[in-house]
Amino acid sequence: MLSEILTNISQFTTQGKKSLVVFDLDSTLFDVSPRLQRILLDFAAQPLNQKRFPQQVALFKNIKTLQTDWGIQGALQRAGLDGHHPEFQDAIREYWQKNFFSNHYLQFDDLYDGALEFTLAVNNAGAEIAYLTGRDIERMGEGSLEVLKQWGFPLHDKAKLILKPHRSMDDAQFKTDYFIEADKDNYEKIYFFENEPVNLVHLAQFCPHVEMIFFQSTHAGKAQPPENLPRIMNFLLSQKES
Ligand SMILES: [Mg+2]
Repeated sequence: MLSEILTNISQFTTQGKKSLVVFDLDSTLFDVSPRLQRILLDFAAQPLNQKRFPQQVALFKNIKTLQTDWGIQGALQRAGLDGHHPEFQDAIREYWQKNFFSNHYLQFDDLYDGALEFTLAVNNAGAEIAYLTGRDIERMGEGSLEVLKQWGFPLHDKAKLILKPHRSMDDAQFKTDYFIEADKDNYEKIYFFENEPVNLVHLAQFCPHVEMIFFQSTHAGKAQPPENLPRIMNFLLSQKES
């Protein structure tokens, strides 16, 4: 399926037609579980937290986030932190929120297999690229641009990072609005890689012509992806279709 997309893009390019490939960042191109893990370990490394929550912090030595984790609860529960200490839960949640949605921990994210190679191939085939993320400019703009550069993702006039102007905006509406706007540019084809079903379901109502590919990593569990969407778990060209 991925190689088919590359073939189509090359054909459009040859025919002088424009195409656009849109990638979500968190849990689509980037595996955020190392970011989560680092934040949890840094919480436990702080003397103040060790003093306030000695029993809880002692359990952090076994903590391990998984690619399938959504947020921090899974990792905490597996480490034996069952949520029966509200003060601790509030402190860790606050620490997670402050740091996860910031510039400072993005460097710890990993890439899903083939993510960079596929994006480069899309770029070489001549499609325009947008990294369309629910991250907001104020808290995560600088760091997002920085890590994309560091990894070597295409960034130029036709390969742009699109962040939310304000954190209060709804992700699904923000992304749908982007596609409605992009439609004015007369693309022959628009592809969208996204892990969050809520965003896909919302977009499907307004822009059914966008070819959506569900990236099956982890999500908030608030919706199921629209039926019959292609699903991938990595960006390797050699994968079997599901
Ligand atoms: Mg995402």
